[in-house]
Amino acid sequence: MISTAQLKPESQLARPAAHVIASIRGALPGPTLIILAGIHGNEPAGVLAAERVWLRMQERRAALRGEVVLLRGNTRALEQRVRYINADLNRQWTPENVRAAGLEPGTTEVSELFEQRELLTVIREAVSRARGEIYFVDLHTTSAHGLPFATVGDTLRNRRFALTFPLTIVLGLEEQIDGTLLEYVNNLGAITMGVEAGQHAAMTSADNHAAVIWIATAATGNFRREDLPELDQSRSVLKQASGGTKVVEVRYRHAIVPQDRFKMEPGFRNFQAVRRGKVLARDRGGEIKASETGLILMPLYQTLGDDGFFLVREVKRFWLTLSALLRKLRVGHYMHLLPGVRRDPLNENFLIINTRIARILPLQVFHLLGFRRLRWTGKYLVVSRRSYDLAGPTKFVF
Ligand SMILES: [Zn+2]
Repeated sequence: MISTAQLKPESQLARPAAHVIASIRGALPGPTLIILAGIHGNEPAGVLAAERVWLRMQERRAALRGEVVLLRGNTRALEQRVRYINADLNRQWTPENVRAAGLEPGTTEVSELFEQRELLTVIREAVSRARGEIYFVDLHTTSAHGLPFATVGDTLRNRRFALTFPLTIVLGLEEQIDGTLLEYVNNLGAITMGVEAGQHAAMTSADNHAAVIWIATAATGNFRREDLPELDQSRSVLKQASGGTKVVEVRYRHAIVPQDRFKMEPGFRNFQAVRRGKVLARDRGGEIKASETGLILMPLYQTLGDDGFFLVREVKRFWLTLSALLRKLRVGHYMHLLPGVRRDPLNENFLIINTRIARILPLQVFHLLGFRRLRWTGKYLVVSRRSYDLAGPTKFVF
């Protein structure tokens, strides 16, 4: 959704430096960890956390390997404490949009186009300085209260990284939303994780984000554990806030548009258990009930947004282990040999599944094998194989 609010002239000057909270570069080579905070302007907790930790990190520079880059996302929206000015900055990172944004800036009234161009500049600079693997962590908060969690595009590399955090890991949330920055850098081969630290205005959200940043610097290898006195404290902060590591998958998304006049019933928290049939919200069509028993995620308690709520359920360790094994055996490369499954003639990483013929192959099977849902039109399900599931690119180009 793009509105045409007027941009002040001073907001139309490119100011990439406003996005850089700090970049701390160690003398030794090693991974680059990019932390992005506040891509939604009404989510300042990540920015507060980054501003809080960077000085101490700077003091430890002698022990740092590689580089840690702490970035602000939507700077103009952060100043005005709104989610976005004209358009959601975290929905416009499709390859086509990025290509267009990288071109010579024409005149635009859209604040987020400036933001996107500036972010492209600072991330490209960080990537060009990189001396190792690229990690990218995107810090968010939610309108509802509840436990913090991580959102992970399910490659084995992302999974391994995310499982080192004492957080609930949500699989399959990212495929519900197109054009996120995280998905974009993930597809280029970075190891990525999104974090929802709690409610927008809760004091604990900044604490949780600060803990995530410290743990991330150990998980990447930027700091050795013995050089990081903050590690134990950070782990216990997160563990206490989230209840420890577990994995859940998205089962249902309730998409909304403004005309629906969607209104969540009060009092739901992230990961609250709900039974099938429970009334969760209302819109102009009447009651909206839980389609299955599970846990509610991200119930919408703000005016902007197009997700009403999600339903998730726990994934047992057995399935994670099985899926890792099947992927290492590259089973996904042979799925097109099955009846009802064919390769997209235009892209060999896309599969088109006729769900009438291949009835026994629900979406979960493809998830297990490392595919991402692209769309579901009529009887055809289209999935794409995630790139860089087992190994990263030889050279990362942003
Ligand atoms: Zn957000």
